[in-house]
Amino acid sequence: MHVLSVSRISLGICLTAALFITQRPTVALVAHQSTVPTNPQSQCVPTAADAATAAAATMAVTSDATAIATAPAGTKHLYVVTTVAPITNIAFNIGGNRIILHGLIPEGVDSHTFEPKPSDSVYMAKADMIFVNGLHLEDPTLRLANATMRKDATLTELGASTISEKDWVFDFSFPKDKGDPNPHLWMNPFYALHYASIFRDMFSQADPVNAAYYVANYTAFEARILTLDQAICDAIFSIPANNRKLLTYHDSFAYFAPRYGIAVIGAIQPSDFAEPSGQDVANLINQLKAEKIPAIFGSEVFPSKVVDQIGQEAGVKYINTLADDDLPNQQDNRLHHSYIQLMVNDVSTMSTALGGSADALKAVDTANITGSDESLLAN
Ligand SMILES: [Zn+2]
Repeated sequence: MHVLSVSRISLGICLTAALFITQRPTVALVAHQSTVPTNPQSQCVPTAADAATAAAATMAVTSDATAIATAPAGTKHLYVVTTVAPITNIAFNIGGNRIILHGLIPEGVDSHTFEPKPSDSVYMAKADMIFVNGLHLEDPTLRLANATMRKDATLTELGASTISEKDWVFDFSFPKDKGDPNPHLWMNPFYALHYASIFRDMFSQADPVNAAYYVANYTAFEARILTLDQAICDAIFSIPANNRKLLTYHDSFAYFAPRYGIAVIGAIQPSDFAEPSGQDVANLINQLKAEKIPAIFGSEVFPSKVVDQIGQEAGVKYINTLADDDLPNQQDNRLHHSYIQLMVNDVSTMSTALGGSADALKAVDTANITGSDESLLAN
């Protein structure tokens, strides 16, 4: 086994490097926003977005990636194992069906407490490449990988390859004294894009016959991310300034919030992922009354009667459809079973519930660059 140290260099350098080795001819089509920020935590600039123009630009970009439609003959398929569904989906958007992709953590399962089955070692043993988020999210899976992967396979921690420890965020459910940082890097679209660049580079290096395909997919994905970023920015800035506050059950917006000028004022889930204590609940109710925000948010993966109770007692709406690793469209319409659809749904939910508009998000094409991902169900 060898553990890849892709880079511990600062993200700015990583992203800059990615820009130089990537052809980006289509990005100029997006009228409002055309560059990947050097620091993904820097705040976005809202525009009076002309949704039609942005949508037209996105449509022009999407057709590009499928230009190289046919796999060269005799291609060996890389066997790639990933963990949570957003990471699996980003890998699919770069590798498509030129790789065999297995996502280990089932959707709808709490990824923070997930324990792989002993039988999952079968996938580890088959893998040419294993990717985890890291930042202490999937430690049991990482241990299984280390114990059962092939010596010639690679194991990559995407989070650690994207930011260094000094940029780790500790907050409500991930307090510093426990030592586990908030791991939800992918909820910032530019960190997700950096994950995509790692897939592009590693797939291309191991499978040069398909390198042009991986690079074209990345280029199209980058354009999609740029459109998504601007649309999120415009949707969040349509929320009245006093309401740009997030209180969620699960604490997954730590890397998203600074970029879009929305404050994470708390999270209900304690750091041991149990239910909050009576005292915690009382404090949250008082805080909500003081902050005067119209809604708080939960998710279907973490059903909690407590949040309902907090909402009722504080007199705020409770909406339980935010998600961070449970993608939309798992049964039907797998073309839109995507990380980008997840982000669009989350931001639509929060912007409308907090008194803004989700209109800007109509500019975003949420389809997978590489088509429907039904093949993943069989891998
Ligand atoms: Zn999470």
